[in-house]
Amino acid sequence: MRILIVGAGIGGMTLAALLKQRGMQATLIERAANFDHAGYMLGLWPLGYRVLHGLGLYEQFAATSIECKHYEVRDNHGTLVKNWSMQPIADRFGPNLSCTRPQLIKLLQTALGDADIRFNTAIEAINQRGEAVDVTFSDGSNETFDLVVGADGLHSKVRSLAFGEQPYYHTNWGGWVWWVDVNAVPKETFVEHWGAGRFFGIYPTINGAGVYAGAPIDGAFAEPGPGRQKRIREQFSGMGELVDICLSALPDDSKDLFFWKLSDVRSKEWARGRVVLLGDAAAGFLPTAGIGASMAMESAAVLADELSRTNNQFLEHALSLYVKRRKHRVESTQSDSRHLAKMMFIKSATVAHIRDVATKFYSLEQLASSIAKAFDEPI
Ligand SMILES: Cc1cc2nc3c(=O)[nH]c(=O)nc-3n(C[C@H](O)[C@H](O)[C@H](O)COP(=O)(O)OP(=O)(O)OC[C@H]3O[C@@H](n4cnc5c(N)ncnc54)[C@H](O)[C@@H]3O)c2cc1C
Repeated sequence: MRILIVGAGIGGMTLAALLKQRGMQATLIERAANFDHAGYMLGLWPLGYRVLHGLGLYEQFAATSIECKHYEVRDNHGTLVKNWSMQPIADRFGPNLSCTRPQLIKLLQTALGDADIRFNTAIEAINQRGEAVDVTFSDGSNETFDLVVGADGLHSKVRSLAFGEQPYYHTNWGGWVWWVDVNAVPKETFVEHWGAGRFFGIYPTINGAGVYAGAPIDGAFAEPGPGRQKRIREQFSGMGELVDICLSALPDDSKDLFFWKLSDVRSKEWARGRVVLLGDAAAGFLPTAGIGASMAMESAAVLADELSRTNNQFLEHALSLYVKRRKHRVESTQSDSRHLAKMMFIKSATVAHIRDVATKFYSLEQLASSIAKAFDEPI
């Protein structure tokens, strides 16, 4: 089977590595020039990293990750609201392990050996005719494949080419991402400040702690350039000592900072003919439950499984089985992320106060019930 994977991200790389292990070759294209981008922090649940056991990469992954042992929520002024131990989940299923995206991508790359990854290459057009898919690449060249996998992330071009524009779910919040010295913050705790009209999260990894400073996207908050550092510092002042430490490490206005708009997407269809979606391209994730990467890896495992049980003749049936095994589960966990976003991103001080009081009575399982259920369900 001639397989094209569009996007060498978490899902695309996992799929390529699993296919290679099963003796199947795939062509992988990636829009970026290389894997050297500083990237961002990723918390992985056992749901996702279980795949790494099968690839023989788990020990290396665990040795270079930090275990998140506690999840802590603080209020608008930095006062502790709740500290959940992750131990009960870790004991039953495995720890939540925190790494950086480039770290995971480079690890997956070791499983690919000399596989064909074409950097600086995007997809321009897809034309399905019978059992073949003609693809036009950004350099103007054309190639024909038996299967095209759209693993090109939240704003997937494959999705829009093959399935048309799909509606986005907008929180109307967004935030800046930067890195701080991991020794300056609690090392084994994810600390989130659920404020009123602001949110500040701190996520340690072995290479530094990733910070996400979010607020409603109105006014000048999302604007880069002159005054950015001052605006961010003002927006998050008075949130407590930990936030102040992170703000003191905020890069100045001349440096590029990643601004992440918090929107997701849910594609109505995941497969049509010989084109299939994987990861954020199929169902994009808000970061609120830290589950998007895990779901992308799990989906890659199921797709590799279905592809290894079929041949070209019955490929479309295999794709429909993949969708049946994945769509409901992925969308349920996506709903958890949306539900959490509604709790975390609140403008009104009064509503935020009520939320803080209620949060004290929540268990982790209640906060993310579909994810908790997914831990214990067969795929
Ligand atoms: C700041 C931040 C923090 C996050 N934190 C977490 C977390 O803690 N836990 C978690 O589980 N998830 C987290 N996520 C979400 C997680 O990163 C995604 O859900 C996950 O990466 C999805 O994997 P993917 O392979 O579908 O997409 P991606 O990993 O985004 O990969 C898509 C790839 O496709 C490439 N691409 C895009 N368009 C094209 C094109 N036209 N042609 C060719 N290539 C293309 C991109 O360059 C990219 O390499 C976070 C995301 C962000 C931005």
